[in-house]
Amino acid sequence: MSPPEVAAPAARERLVLERIAARRARPALFRDARIGLAHGAGGKASRDLVEGLFLPAFDSEALRQLDDAGRVHVDGLRLALSTDTFVVRPLQFPGGSIGTLAVHGTLNDLAVTGARPLALTASFVLEEGLEAAVLETEVSTMAAAARAAGVELVAGDTKVVERGRADGMYVCTTGLGRVDRRAHTSPRRLEPGDRILLTGPLGRHGIAVLLARGEFELDAEVASDTRPLWPAVDALLEAAGGRLHAARDATRGGLGSVLNELATASGVGIVVRERDLPADPVVAGACEILGIDPLYVANEGQLAAFVAPDRADAALAALRAIPGFSEAADVGEVVAGPPGLVQMDTAFGGRRVVDLLVGDPLPRIC
Ligand code: MG
Repeated sequence: MSPPEVAAPAARERLVLERIAARRARPALFRDARIGLAHGAGGKASRDLVEGLFLPAFDSEALRQLDDAGRVHVDGLRLALSTDTFVVRPLQFPGGSIGTLAVHGTLNDLAVTGARPLALTASFVLEEGLEAAVLETEVSTMAAAARAAGVELVAGDTKVVERGRADGMYVCTTGLGRVDRRAHTSPRRLEPGDRILLTGPLGRHGIAVLLARGEFELDAEVASDTRPLWPAVDALLEAAGGRLHAARDATRGGLGSVLNELATASGVGIVVRERDLPADPVVAGACEILGIDPLYVANEGQLAAFVAPDRADAALAALRAIPGFSEAADVGEVVAGPPGLVQMDTAFGGRRVVDLLVGDPLPRIC
C-alpha cells in the first residue's frame, strides 16, 4: 500500500491560490439587511452592492463594462458619461477641498476611460446654517478647477436640508466627455505581459484628509494629490495608442482595489513589485504609525495604466515628461493567472496576496 500523497509546498501554494481564485469568480450577491459604511468603501461590500443590486436592476451594456464612465454612442459619436458624489469630511484639507475633488474626481473618471472631458454639471446639498463664505470659497474653487481643465459647467441644482442632516455640504458632479480616437481601453483588455505604470506615490490624499480631522496627534505635513489626470492619459495615448489596454484612477480603495477589479474583469493575474512603488516618506511613516496599508489608501491624482510591453517604455517616458509626473514608475506586470489574483513581491523578499478589502480603513475621504 502506498503512503498518502503529500502535496509539495509549491503545489500546495498553487492549490490555495486556485481556491482563492475560484471563490473570487463567484457572482456577487447583495444580502445585507442594512447599509453600512463598507458599502460605500470600494471593496468587497461595494462590489456586492453594485453587482448584486444595481447592475441586475439597471442592466445596460455600458454598466456591464464596470468602467469608470459609461460609453454612449450617438450618431457615430463616442461619448462618455460619469457621475460622482462627494461627502468628504472635513470640507477643506491641505492640498484641496470638496470643490476640487468634485471637479477632478468626475473629470478623472472620464479621462481614465479615454474620454477628453467636455462639460460638467454640479448639484449641491447644503445644510441649513452653512456659512456663506465656505460655499463661496468652494464655488470659486470649482470654477477655477473647471476652467483650468478646459471644461464648462453647464447645469446645476441646489437643495437645502435641515441643520444636522448633512455635514455642511455634499456635492454631486456629472461629466460628459468625448472618447478619444486613439483610445481603445477597457477593464477587460488586460493581457499577460502588459506592464503596469503608476503615475506617482500612493496615499497622499487619504492621509492628508485623515490628518486634517485632527484625531491623531501626528506632526506630519501631507497635502492631497488631487489634480486632473487627462494630461497623463493624453500622453499615454500619444505614446501607446491602442496598446494602452486599460487605465484607472486609484481613488477610494487605493491601488490594491483597482488591481483586484481589473484582474477580475480581465480574468488574469497581476504581480506588483513593492520596491518599485514610488513612495512619499512622510505618508509611508504616517501609514506605519497608524497601521494602515498605503496600497488601500485613496489617491485623487494617480492612475495605473496597463500597457502592452512593446510600448511600455515609450509610455513611461511620455508620462515622466509631463510636469508633476516625474515620479511615474513601472511597478508590475500582468500574468496569465491564477485569474483574478493580485500578488505582491514584497521588499523583504517573498510574495503575498493583495486581497480586496471588505470595507475601507478611512471612510468619508472623497
Ligand atoms: Mg475612478
